Amino acid sequence: MQNGIVAIVVVVALPPLALTGLLFLGPRSSSLTTSVLGEHAGRCQEYIFERRSNTLQYFLISLVLSAVGVYFTFLRPLIIPGSPLARDYPAAFHGSVMLTFLTLAFLHVTGPQVINKKNVKDYVAAYGVMTAQDSQDSVVMCTTCEIPRVVGSHHCRICGKCIANFDHHCVWINGCVARANFIPFVAFLVSSTGLAGIFSVLCFKLTTQELTRYGVDRSWIREAESSFRPISKFECFFWCLNWYPVVVSVGLFSGVVTLVLAGFTLFSAAGRYTRSRH
Ligand SMILES: [Zn+2]
Ligand SMILES: [Zn+2]
Repeated sequence: MQNGIVAIVVVVALPPLALTGLLFLGPRSSSLTTSVLGEHAGRCQEYIFERRSNTLQYFLISLVLSAVGVYFTFLRPLIIPGSPLARDYPAAFHGSVMLTFLTLAFLHVTGPQVINKKNVKDYVAAYGVMTAQDSQDSVVMCTTCEIPRVVGSHHCRICGKCIANFDHHCVWINGCVARANFIPFVAFLVSSTGLAGIFSVLCFKLTTQELTRYGVDRSWIREAESSFRPISKFECFFWCLNWYPVVVSVGLFSGVVTLVLAGFTLFSAAGRYTRSRH
């Protein structure tokens, strides 16, 4: 029975962890994927992670929309009117879905500051230019944009532009994150972490509600003619998995997504904080 739980957790946790792993391996990891998994897998990863493509953004939006679909189809019918769950959770869920879409829209409206031939003078005046380490007089140029490299800027290979106060290129939003859109970016991360968290807690609360409603958590298992023992936690889990498979699996999946997102939010915010001190 324990092996069953491990198998379920692995199946549920693997896709988000694999995606995070690929992201942390860096943009040049497609050659690694090619050597391990073959040419098709490498090309697929290159298409998704190393070019401007909306694939992951659509995946993200469809994940939120499917959470809404699962909520109305499987979770909401289980919420008993008048119960403590009915009081707090629907409002929290609706609010976090709206906030996630609003912050995503806000993020797209803000965007990073792009440095080009027309505006480079203003950025040089504001931040200064990068000079070669050996000679203070030789200005470092971006050979693609044919402009001087402004301090704090970076030429994003994926977007093909020089970005002011660059932080990183985010494949999930198909664009660069820089100082100009850093606050909307963190707001988006926080609201989507909140959404995933509320969703997984709601799934957990609903399964425990059902366990209590049917008296499963208080039941006794007959082992022999006259020997009984209380039901174990694993047996309760499998009862839920048997009767509420969607609630249990989406609950576990969103739990893993919450942890990954929370980790990434802290990583981004802490990274920005330490960098901004230099
Ligand atoms: Zn450039
Ligand atoms: Zn970029």
